[in-house]
Amino acid sequence: MKLSKLASDIAESPTFALNEEARLLRERGEAVINLGIGEPKNKTPIAAVLASGAKLTSGDVKYAPPDGLPSMKKAVIRYTEENYNRLVAPENVIITNGAKQSLYNIFYSILNPQDEVIVIAPYWVSYTEMIRMCLGIPVIVTPEDGTFTPRFEDIERAVTSSTRAIIVNSPNNPSGAVYPPELIEKIVNMCERKGIFMICDDIYHKLTFDRNVAPPAYSFTNKDVENSHIIVVNGVAKLYGMTGFRIGWVVAPRELIKVMTNVLAQTTSCVSPIAQAAAEGALNGLQSVVEALRLHIQNNRDVVLQEMRTFNGARLIEPKGTFYALPDLRAFNGNSVEVSKFLLKKAMVVTVPGKEFGMEGHIRISFAGSVKEITEGIARIKWALDPTSPNEIYIGDKKMIRDWM
Ligand code: PMP
Repeated sequence: MKLSKLASDIAESPTFALNEEARLLRERGEAVINLGIGEPKNKTPIAAVLASGAKLTSGDVKYAPPDGLPSMKKAVIRYTEENYNRLVAPENVIITNGAKQSLYNIFYSILNPQDEVIVIAPYWVSYTEMIRMCLGIPVIVTPEDGTFTPRFEDIERAVTSSTRAIIVNSPNNPSGAVYPPELIEKIVNMCERKGIFMICDDIYHKLTFDRNVAPPAYSFTNKDVENSHIIVVNGVAKLYGMTGFRIGWVVAPRELIKVMTNVLAQTTSCVSPIAQAAAEGALNGLQSVVEALRLHIQNNRDVVLQEMRTFNGARLIEPKGTFYALPDLRAFNGNSVEVSKFLLKKAMVVTVPGKEFGMEGHIRISFAGSVKEITEGIARIKWALDPTSPNEIYIGDKKMIRDWM
């Protein structure tokens, strides 16, 4: 069969593939623990359920405007004012099918063939594939010192005359790093000086721990949204645990929003008004749901730190936000794909190889689930890899003996 070379070269989404593998194993009765997917376990906030329920029972579910329902845009404008201290117009906002579509449409709307986008490693798996789909070139900047925070000089050195944008994701998937405010400030200044877009993937912006905060890029410029090079991406998937509603949005200069609206109108027409009503309900409802989720996740992070302390050989940089940890397991095996496969086969634990995120030798563990899953999942990983851990363990009701070292 003759298919598009470009499309055929796009990698499978490893997180979704692993999720499916875990589901099939569980269906076969295996006691699988899924530390792969980044998805909070909370119930949909009641305000979102009621708002989307009301829309559905009205029986009036038709096409919505391609840039989003006016009332949903209003909710985003208020959110932007409250959380970013910026007053924006409806023409600065577009509602999309998840933050994923926001990002794809941004790349599609700003890139010409061979244009470069700077991506900081470790990075979310989809950035590089999306940039390639839009005929751009991802230029990876990797921290040289084994941390997950890049040096500004390395970012600046990666800029060429073909650079159109840099994507910044702090708090960061997959490392949990929160970049220091000084770094964000320097990137904002660099982008303004050089006329480069700074795409801020803020999907985890309130999920930070202890005293860490992720200040918005806007706080480092006096320019209004219309004249700045900052593009903000956000959504309800992570902060409200509403992954299945598929609602994201972009705040950006109106010229870009106009192009993105045409792209969205010609590809998916609009975003379902039922899902938009739900997101509107979440944004206008009680915000204590976000803080409750943050506290739950912070507690989970503490459990991860506690469990990892007794994991000889593993090196973990403490996550300061998100619900991911990215331990360095090079002491056991430098090939993260092999490690992840081994952990699934021997310990029935799903993890994601760091290679997928541009960080070979590490594996990503999601701690969005329950304390029980995290504790048991990490105990199994230790059992499978660390020869100093006890060599017997129960997986489900099966007693397993480590006989490979
Ligand atoms: N950006 C990052 C960094 C993410 O981790 C994710 C989801 N895993 C997204 C964007 C996409 O979010 P959504 O579900 O709203 O498409």
